Amino acid sequence: MSIRKPLLAGNWKMYKNTGEAVELVEGLKKNLGGVTDREILVCTPFTALYAVGRALKGSNIKLGAQNLFWEPKGAYTGEIAPGMLVDTGCSYAIIGHSERRQYFGENDGSVNKKMKAAFSAGLTPIVCVGETLQEREQNVTFKVIERQVNTGIEGLDEEQAKKLVIAYEPVWAIGTGKTATPQQAEEVHAYIRKLYLKLYGNAASDAVRILYGGSVKPDNTSELMKEPNIDGGLVGGASLEVDSFTKIVKYKV
Ligand code: PEP
Repeated sequence: MSIRKPLLAGNWKMYKNTGEAVELVEGLKKNLGGVTDREILVCTPFTALYAVGRALKGSNIKLGAQNLFWEPKGAYTGEIAPGMLVDTGCSYAIIGHSERRQYFGENDGSVNKKMKAAFSAGLTPIVCVGETLQEREQNVTFKVIERQVNTGIEGLDEEQAKKLVIAYEPVWAIGTGKTATPQQAEEVHAYIRKLYLKLYGNAASDAVRILYGGSVKPDNTSELMKEPNIDGGLVGGASLEVDSFTKIVKYKV
């Protein structure tokens, strides 16, 4: 079991219009109002952020975005600046999700710029790393993770390094119903923490939270959360319904 405060984060991807989004968080507020020993976060589509931010005011559920651009303002048609996200009530932003790496050309370099821009605006980044199926089968998982951490996550100051959240999401487990076993996940989480220790030292590697993502469901959360280096979950599909996300947040170990 983790010694850090667990973070259960929903990644809604490109689902839910404004009305549906507010309805979902109203249900979560009702079910999760008393939860104080774990942090709860919903990362909605950009278009729902403002409305959901208003609905969550004064609650124990935090708001996050799924992406951002690294410039603070300018002629960047179609992009969203970190400060604009803060303006809607966001305190977190997911950076470098594998779907962004796969379909939108993001790489460790852009991830690094976005991570730093998020911190500059006062957001806490959740930086995603993880190997593809092919990479796992070629036995290069640790090499891929090492590159993603050392290139994507370098250059933080000590306070930022303590605050950062990393999500380990094996690409083969995202949206596939195939979860990494708790042992498979723990092995990589422990490795990420070791890399982090080399980059930022003891205090930061003790503080950084490393979430697991990849088909997290109500019936596998407890087993995953028993592992000492798994500090929470980044949940896609199962965060889209009140009932399943409630059960995930209320996991018991
Ligand atoms: C995700 O969106 O990051 C994710 C892990 O999705 P799912 O839980 O649906 O696999």
